[in-house]
Amino acid sequence: MVDKEDLRDLIPSYAFISLARRGMEKISLDQCFLKDCDNQDPKLLEPFKKEEYKEEKKEIKKIHIKCKKCNGIFILKLETLKYVAKSTKDEKEEPLSMGLVYALDENGNSLGHIGYF
Ligand SMILES: [Zn+2]
Repeated sequence: MVDKEDLRDLIPSYAFISLARRGMEKISLDQCFLKDCDNQDPKLLEPFKKEEYKEEKKEIKKIHIKCKKCNGIFILKLETLKYVAKSTKDEKEEPLSMGLVYALDENGNSLGHIGYF
């Protein structure tokens, strides 16, 4: 039994999209990413399953979400990249990490790169 509230906590509230020369735009991840659906109501989005695994230098979480407006299912894929910025002067530098968010459809087909978190 998975605690639904815990799953929601795994999803960052916002992602950032890079707008070339105009800086970054903040978008909410509380929305349905399926085509032709404009649901932006978190109450109509139900995370129900997660997958978690590690690849070399990456931690991947996939959160499966059911949209109660279009009755579709999509997956938010959160990739955290970990790497250490090597400096010749300071060996104690903290590892940097960066997150990427992708949306996938129910079958794992990419709906696109959403942004960074
Ligand atoms: Zn939807």
